[in-house]
Amino acid sequence: MTVNVIGGGLSGCEAAWQLANRGIDVNLYEMKPSSYSPAHHLEYLAELVCSNSLRSNQIENAVGLLKEEMRMLGSLIMQCADQTQVPAGGALAVDRVGFSKLVTEKINNHPHINVVNEEVIHIDENSYTIVATGPLTSGALYDEIKNFFGSSYLHFFDAAAPIVTTESIDMNVAYKAARYGKGDADYINCPMTEEEYNVFYENLINAECAVLHDGEENVFEGCMPVETMAKRGRETLLYGPLKPVGLENPYTNELPYAVVQLRQDNKDATLYNIVGFQTHLKFGEQKRVFSLIPGLNNAEFVRYGVMHRNTFINSPDLLNNHYQTRKNEKIFFAGQITGVEGYVESASSGLVAGINMAEFLNGKEMTSFPPETAIGALSHYISSGSVGSFQPMNVTFGIISSLNQKVRKKREKNLLIAQRSIEILKNMEL
Ligand SMILES: Cc1cc2nc3c(=O)[nH]c(=O)nc-3n(C[C@H](O)[C@H](O)[C@H](O)COP(=O)(O)OP(=O)(O)OC[C@H]3O[C@@H](n4cnc5c(N)ncnc54)[C@H](O)[C@@H]3O)c2cc1C
Repeated sequence: MTVNVIGGGLSGCEAAWQLANRGIDVNLYEMKPSSYSPAHHLEYLAELVCSNSLRSNQIENAVGLLKEEMRMLGSLIMQCADQTQVPAGGALAVDRVGFSKLVTEKINNHPHINVVNEEVIHIDENSYTIVATGPLTSGALYDEIKNFFGSSYLHFFDAAAPIVTTESIDMNVAYKAARYGKGDADYINCPMTEEEYNVFYENLINAECAVLHDGEENVFEGCMPVETMAKRGRETLLYGPLKPVGLENPYTNELPYAVVQLRQDNKDATLYNIVGFQTHLKFGEQKRVFSLIPGLNNAEFVRYGVMHRNTFINSPDLLNNHYQTRKNEKIFFAGQITGVEGYVESASSGLVAGINMAEFLNGKEMTSFPPETAIGALSHYISSGSVGSFQPMNVTFGIISSLNQKVRKKREKNLLIAQRSIEILKNMEL
């Protein structure tokens, strides 16, 4: 029995790995390197298209808990992320290229996985298939999926942040620091006076944007373009990505009016990305406006921010909590296209889809991860949310079943939820 996994991204690689480790042969179809979406650039599988951070690594944070659960379940993506991590405080950030390269090596070396570099344009309803083509699913397959499900189909746009070379950052102005001096000084900080902020702000809100397509008005809150956020009010950035609190300037011993932060983007620390600066300004405008930031006056931009389509299906109507389509038991979906949101969440859905497809093929009862776990909460969210207002969702404690007891302190409560989840998974037979 062979399963066709379509899409060699985070979810597709994870699904293929889970199937293959259960002895099932997999054809993993990936359209790169002959065809690239607007956000993909690397020739490797499992590419991180925007930030190199997989967010928090602490179990008191829902995405940290999800990571821990995935480690317990033998996740390929977590194994490779742990092996290629770069310093990022309490977050798990990775060397972008090193991570994707490692995933590719492991997939290529697995005896049960055959990678086929080909764009898929048709879903064979008689074959066992996992569709994991992500938020930037290619055009022909997009139409095919639309035909497969009928009209219950949506799409919108979101945005990616620019990357600059480290050597082009002026460290006579910028400085490394950790907020309140806690932890390692992992971020580069560019301080602004009120006058500098005012000039930057005026230029930002009046800069020219790239032409947008339909659906742009539905910008996703978790990845909002910096200019869109700025247009909400002069103070908005000062309470968001440009918050100066706890980042005293060592050159002046004063708290700056605003601070732009940059996060290490590769293992060798030769590249940094501008935190929270997802944007759809025209490239020339990005260079002009972002070069107004003190410390970035001569910055070399190796990648500009861009806007992208983000495709997802109305999963509550279409999928069960095994990520299997209600229409055809042989066809599963996984990844961001199912309405989970984020790198780790996408990989987690590939993990669940892979395990369940394997169980389905082996004639076993499929696994329902309970809503007390982060991984189960996500699969319940996408399969049982309300169809009318269904929107992609990051994992949060808000979707995980609450405790039976009242705990006032949030951190303590989250820790108890996390410990409960880990205990449940330890006792599950898989
Ligand atoms: C611009 C952008 C920025 C994002 N930034 C972040 C971020 O910073 N942090 C975060 O947590 N999440 C981010 N996301 C959301 C999401 O986590 C990522 O998109 C994630 O990679 C989704 O994983 P996936 O496996 O669903 O899709 P992908 O990782 O995109 O994998 C899909 C794969 O399928 C391939 N493919 C597509 N169509 C076909 C076809 N017809 N045939 C064969 N192969 C095909 C693609 O080439 C790709 O390799 C972002 C999304 C977008 C669009």
